[in-house]
Amino acid sequence: MIIVLKPEASKADADAILARIAAAGLKPLYMPGTERTVLGALGDERVLGQLHIESNPAVERVTPILTPFKLVSREMHPEDTVVAVGKVPVGGPRFTVIAGPCAVESREQMIATAEAVRRAGAHALRGGAFKPRTSPYSFQGLGQEGLDILHEAAVRVGLPAVTEVVEVADVKAVERCADAFQVGARNMQNFRLLKALGQSPKPVLLKRGMAATVEDLLLAAEYIVAEGNPNVILCERGIRTFETITRNTLDLNAVPYIKRHSHLPVLVDPSHGTGVREFVPPMAKAAIACGADGLLIEVHCDPRTALSDGQQSLSPDEFEAFMRDIRPFVAAAGRTL
Ligand code: PEP
Ligand code: MN
Repeated sequence: MIIVLKPEASKADADAILARIAAAGLKPLYMPGTERTVLGALGDERVLGQLHIESNPAVERVTPILTPFKLVSREMHPEDTVVAVGKVPVGGPRFTVIAGPCAVESREQMIATAEAVRRAGAHALRGGAFKPRTSPYSFQGLGQEGLDILHEAAVRVGLPAVTEVVEVADVKAVERCADAFQVGARNMQNFRLLKALGQSPKPVLLKRGMAATVEDLLLAAEYIVAEGNPNVILCERGIRTFETITRNTLDLNAVPYIKRHSHLPVLVDPSHGTGVREFVPPMAKAAIACGADGLLIEVHCDPRTALSDGQQSLSPDEFEAFMRDIRPFVAAAGRTL
């Protein structure tokens, strides 16, 4: 429920209503604005109905939040949320490109790739140390050693680092080495992990599960925000459909839908969304055109030797050309790069 107070309502009026909401076992929210204060009540709406808050003289109106997700909804928070990854704002007027290899493979590979993406103008560095692979025989990542290498490479080139966390036990280690957590498609509904990340001060890049609806994604984000971490960035990375010509089907419909119904920033990952290097630039341009706040792009210093996802990774030269090519599309979308 959203409770809009009258312009003349005092802080004491707000506090009294918030206390009644809390006493009824609901979660109270206080959102002071420049013109008027808005309160929120989360929980069983039948309980809220019994409080008859609409008859309080300080209240202008009470409206239900119609979507199943609440804290991440635009109804609750009309302005866009800007999430800081290190010092890089995601979701504001600047368009964000996060680039790097699928996996951290070695110090040399990570530093060479970090230098290349920095040179080309990326804003943040990616690289997985814990790789959740479909096959148990595929390269699983370097673990803690990979985190240390990623951290060293990021500091060296002066970019914030984003890396995947796959289990609750690793949250602290990843938090120490990275500026943002990535939650991968295979873990989007690992609710214990989402709750643990909700208690971290660092932002979370939450990727859509390959068989998850957009509503599932927004409810997964709600788990993180409900625990107290408002810094969530969503990522559309393609879903499984009957179409098999590409690795996944990049569902760009998700972008305008999310922008309309949620205040959280949205990135698009055309690398996993297509699985084909040549299709990354056109789908990136489409993502920019449909309103994405940024891109997650796989880049490898030598894609032919990559231990994972080489077929969809851009080489340093290709990434440099890519950053040049997207510039007019970013400008046409009213953003800066
Ligand atoms: C990745 O970003 O390398 C990755 C594993 O992505 P996803 O979880 O979207 O498959
Ligand atoms: Mn990958």
